Amino acid sequence: MHKRAKRVSALLFAILSSVSPLAGASTFKVIASFPVLEDLVKRIAGEEISVSTIVPPGADVHNWELTPPNVLAIEEADILFYNGFGLEPWLRHVKAMSDDSLLLKSVAENADFTPLPITTGRYKGTPDPHMWMDPQGAAAYVEVIAETLAKHYPKQAEGFYARAQETYQALQTLDQAIEERLDGVPNTNRTLVTSESGFGYFARAYGLEYAAIWGANHETQGSAQAMAQMSYRLASKRPPALFYESTVDYIHMDALSRESGIKLAGPLYVDAFSPADGPAYNYPAMLRHDAELIHEALGGARPE
Ligand SMILES: [Zn+2]
Repeated sequence: MHKRAKRVSALLFAILSSVSPLAGASTFKVIASFPVLEDLVKRIAGEEISVSTIVPPGADVHNWELTPPNVLAIEEADILFYNGFGLEPWLRHVKAMSDDSLLLKSVAENADFTPLPITTGRYKGTPDPHMWMDPQGAAAYVEVIAETLAKHYPKQAEGFYARAQETYQALQTLDQAIEERLDGVPNTNRTLVTSESGFGYFARAYGLEYAAIWGANHETQGSAQAMAQMSYRLASKRPPALFYESTVDYIHMDALSRESGIKLAGPLYVDAFSPADGPAYNYPAMLRHDAELIHEALGGARPE
């Protein structure tokens, strides 16, 4: 009996040790603050590094609260990539609980990309964190991610840089496709109005005029003053549509739409992806979806 048990356990050990690297038991663990970053990091990291996200798909990155599984994942991780510029106010709890064994890296604050100031609300004048909404901003993130991974896992550096190069090229193609699509929006209609001010970089990249009701999702959404300001603005300048985002309550934009008689369109995706079977299931799909929706709602020319 005893002998048999020993043989079984030896066999089990052999099986376990031969499959463990393929069974998801990666020794290298990297964590991203939210799914948009998780997607970009996964494109660079390759299969030997496990990448997960703190904020789950669909949830609002601005207003997240750490869960016990989050804490466990953070404790096991080597690197935590976060956006920075105030996108993740809850990060102060991570900083308080983590020791030197975790490398915390902000991709936006280290990106070679010119930040825009937030133009409205409590955070007016501080850098707008939503840089990924311009594919060139995402490309600058990719550079930070590749360099950080290469420094931390030097044996795999070649793979990181090769995948970063591929991702960079794909982002250039995406950028061009969106530009061509939005070029079809008539000059008189090129005003984008959203709830949260998350499309500043997108608007800058594609030549749209931009306005939002409030500055960042972690401030009071749709205060009476901000609503009155937007209402005043819409009375003098009427865009063909008003947009709401997937992670905000659309009641504010709906109220403005009813009052002004301007149609409501959405949701646009910015801080979160759609579910896997939805239209914005990953980074390029999200930007393509937003571009399509904006193009259509602002009366863009139909493809021939
Ligand atoms: Zn946001």
